[in-house]
Amino acid sequence: MFDIQKIRAQFPILSETVNGKPLVYFDNGATSQKPQVVIDSIVNYYSKYNANIHRGVHTLSQIATDAYEEARLKIQKHFNAKHNYEIILTSGTTESINLVANGFASLLQKGDEIIVSALEHHSNIVPWQMLCEHTGAILKVIPMSIHGELIMEEYDKLVSDKTKLVFCNHISNALGTLNPIEEIITKAHAVGAAVLIDGAQSCPHIKPDVQALDVDFYVTSAHKMCGPTGVGMLYGKEEWLRKLPPYKGGGEMIATVTFEKTTYADLPHKFEAGTPNICGGIAFGTAIDFMNEVGFDNIAKHEHELLEYGTKRLQEIEGVTIYGPTDLSKKASVISFNIENIHPYDIGTIIDRQGIAVRTGHHCAQPIMDFFKIPGTIRASFAFYNTKEEIDIFVEAVKKAKMMLS
Ligand SMILES: *Cc1c(COP(=O)(O)O)cnc(C)c1O
Repeated sequence: MFDIQKIRAQFPILSETVNGKPLVYFDNGATSQKPQVVIDSIVNYYSKYNANIHRGVHTLSQIATDAYEEARLKIQKHFNAKHNYEIILTSGTTESINLVANGFASLLQKGDEIIVSALEHHSNIVPWQMLCEHTGAILKVIPMSIHGELIMEEYDKLVSDKTKLVFCNHISNALGTLNPIEEIITKAHAVGAAVLIDGAQSCPHIKPDVQALDVDFYVTSAHKMCGPTGVGMLYGKEEWLRKLPPYKGGGEMIATVTFEKTTYADLPHKFEAGTPNICGGIAFGTAIDFMNEVGFDNIAKHEHELLEYGTKRLQEIEGVTIYGPTDLSKKASVISFNIENIHPYDIGTIIDRQGIAVRTGHHCAQPIMDFFKIPGTIRASFAFYNTKEEIDIFVEAVKKAKMMLS
């Protein structure tokens, strides 16, 4: 049973007030809130078994190592990776993408092509531009329609035997578009290209199966799915992880070191130099357990209701433009919108005084804003712990702000 009040009670921050008003937190696309079990898992680590991992013979080090490796197994199981060593723990999506981009620097040649989608987050554009500058490879972009959906006929024209890599987010952070990644992957594989999917926005809403998708790389951050900041993962197919060179040099990633030559440790340690975010990794595992207990079917159902209700209620406001797919089945619970002749920042500032947290701005996706010729949007992104009552408070606050500003 999905009992929203029981779920909300597990998030201490949801009973806080902000500017004297009960918090309405609609900035889940930037980061999610944390349930008590995740907070406890961090406190437990530091108060009961804090020790470095994979090194000490002492008891605490072994307990910490076991807890960290157990988290890796939870992540493996959640994403249905074939092997636990195909899960590389990183500091988050951005690092995971950079790790792959760095690795491909040694595999690409001048004239090779990389395809990215027009819907990307800056963290999924800049590393590829750097890679292209470095290697002489060429960056191509899958364009999008006015509904914020990728134009797949154009993708078909871009894919060729020059294509070596394709990058796309699973769900767009700026518009909430659910991208047709199955088709993107199949068509890339037909020409022998590898595919990396950015799952930072999808993992809070759906449970991806990396083997069913047959994806080469899949990346995400823990903090958008109820886990702590500063930790995330890179899933990579074994064959690709073996091909890519290590990204960082240091402790933990080596087998033997002499001044003449170093040999690298086996997977996953080859990519995990230095002391990792130990408690972060452990709490990531706890967050995954928590979300599975809530249940991804329940999450999808509740969030879709919020999306439909929020869309309907916002459309009551005159002069509102909502960006992204009009077919709500192609969209996550994100509403990116503007009100005619009003700057998004002004709305965001006024409703913040009512305790309502939304994101305003370009959402790290400047090219999308340029496409619509707007400075930014107001983005309300809902999580499974949000309610229709909160949407009502939000819509009333937006209406009031509009009156004040026009
Ligand atoms: C948040 C986000 C990122 C960056 O994630 P970090 O945790 O900041 O590294 C990348 N891609 C998308 C689609 C995002 O939403």
